[in-house]
Amino acid sequence: MNTAIHPALIGSLNSTAPSEAIINFSPGPTSLPKEVERQIAANFNKPGLTSLSISHRAPEFQAILDHAISTVRNVMHIPDNYEVLFTHGGGHGQFAALPLNLCHSPSDKATYVVNGTWSARGRDEAQKYCQIETIDGRHPEDGSFTSFPELNEADISPESKYVYLCSNETVNGIELHRLPKLPPSRQHIPLIVDASSDFTTKPIDWQGCGVGVLFACASKNIGHPGLTITIIRQDLIGEGKASPLCPGVFNYTTNNEAGNLWNTPATFNIEVVGIVMDWLVKEGGIEANEQRSIDKSQCIYDVIDALNGFYGTPIANKNLRSRMNLPFNIKQGDEALTNKFLIESWEMGIIGLRTLTPFGVGEYLRASLYNGVSVEQAVKLAEFMKKFASENS
Ligand SMILES: *Cc1c(COP(=O)(O)O)cnc(C)c1O
Repeated sequence: MNTAIHPALIGSLNSTAPSEAIINFSPGPTSLPKEVERQIAANFNKPGLTSLSISHRAPEFQAILDHAISTVRNVMHIPDNYEVLFTHGGGHGQFAALPLNLCHSPSDKATYVVNGTWSARGRDEAQKYCQIETIDGRHPEDGSFTSFPELNEADISPESKYVYLCSNETVNGIELHRLPKLPPSRQHIPLIVDASSDFTTKPIDWQGCGVGVLFACASKNIGHPGLTITIIRQDLIGEGKASPLCPGVFNYTTNNEAGNLWNTPATFNIEVVGIVMDWLVKEGGIEANEQRSIDKSQCIYDVIDALNGFYGTPIANKNLRSRMNLPFNIKQGDEALTNKFLIESWEMGIIGLRTLTPFGVGEYLRASLYNGVSVEQAVKLAEFMKKFASENS
């Protein structure tokens, strides 16, 4: 008997299927749209220097940077009173940068809505630098993260420096398809959004929802790890706003005044973001991309809901189900069937469903449907799920 563990069961992405059959459902880093990947390759096959070899001070890089910023502004309809920064340190860098920029003193207060693993991690990092008040989104009985709490004025101190939330909880599969508005008496407080895993898949009502800062690490929908896009309302930056202890690389004011060139930015990664934005424009902009997200996720949730409990998904409230990351189990987590599902799908080229996170492998498999996954590819997974259920019921 072969006792070796099948690679599909330990999260290997190296499927034996032919490369054109591979569909990457990884939670990130992951594939970019095929056309974007081709454009990146073409750029690096041109004669002359590429962004891998040019100085960030050269006019050629300035053009790449200006293009990335202006296309992000255009695609996301970012108003003129916001600045676009490319920051270092991934999403986690911003977990620390936020309190360091928005709280001048460690006695300043910040409010965190915690309804999943990522908002909890953001809060835990911030509490090193400021006083935290938490709006707890846990289920009161079983402690699970399966919903989004109400935002009541009683839970938000009027002097809080910001209210933080994560618009798509990547691990738990909970998404706000539109940002909430704070209660009227708290609308002077800026809303902070971790949009790491849903940026560019729906419009943002910047002014209407009082967005102060929105950030997204690049490695889910718009590029490669290390780079983060951080969009900041101008009234939140300026001399003397940040904590005196805020490191220069994290300081919004410093980096904005230096035009994103205070130190060496992630040059190649910034070029890739520009290419992804060009792709979004060509594919019909943000509204068309949102429709693709709806179509991709709907065909899979439809299979889950139609098959009388063969598959399960933890988020009962359909208005909160993530279009980006779809957790699902098979016969309540039956191990033998789950392994069979993983091996059969992997051998067909469907990869990335067994996700390995800082929070463990978790109870569920997860299909992530970022910009790199097309509607046709999502339909292929839905069809496989249907077939597998009929063969194994
Ligand atoms: C992936 C992710 C992060 C972490 O980003 P890093 O670049 O790994 O630091 C933060 N928030 C959310 C919602 C994520 O999905």
